Amino acid sequence: MREIFNYFKTIFFALKSLWTGMKVTSAYFFKPWKIVTQQYPENRKKLKMYERTKGELVMPHNEKNEHQCTACGICQINCPNGTIEVKSVTIETPDGKKKKVLDKYIYNLGMCTFCGLCVKVCPSDAIVFSNKFEHAVFNKEKLVKTLNKEGSTLKKGAE
Ligand code: SF4
Ligand code: SF4
Repeated sequence: MREIFNYFKTIFFALKSLWTGMKVTSAYFFKPWKIVTQQYPENRKKLKMYERTKGELVMPHNEKNEHQCTACGICQINCPNGTIEVKSVTIETPDGKKKKVLDKYIYNLGMCTFCGLCVKVCPSDAIVFSNKFEHAVFNKEKLVKTLNKEGSTLKKGAE
């Protein structure tokens, strides 16, 4: 007797959960504007990312190909997993002084955990996170990027 009871009880709960699911489905069918799930990649063209999305670390340059990185290395020291390597060179200024400038800012996207510490500690606001998030590559070497552009220099006044 008990087995028969359990049998019908199972059927009852199965129908109940089916009904609950169908209620949600039909609600979205008749009110599609209420759908919150994004259909990616079909919606790629009109996809808007939130400003706070951390896609990858970038170094903004202005129209004169200038960045704000003084090569101080603070971001490299603070990065918990060695994702950043700041390579600098020492140059001589017109007034005969020695000065350290950025040579290469190397960022390994494949190792980054997007903690945001590097951006937070940078005293010059030289790096930011872009919200570009599509990074699929066939070769992980391609995830190692040089963030300062070819021929770029330190922005005047950012020393
Ligand atoms: S976000 Fe974190 S892990 Fe990524 S480079 Fe910055 S400090 Fe390193
Ligand atoms: S990005 Fe900022 S913290 Fe990192 S080396 Fe350049 S100036 Fe220093």
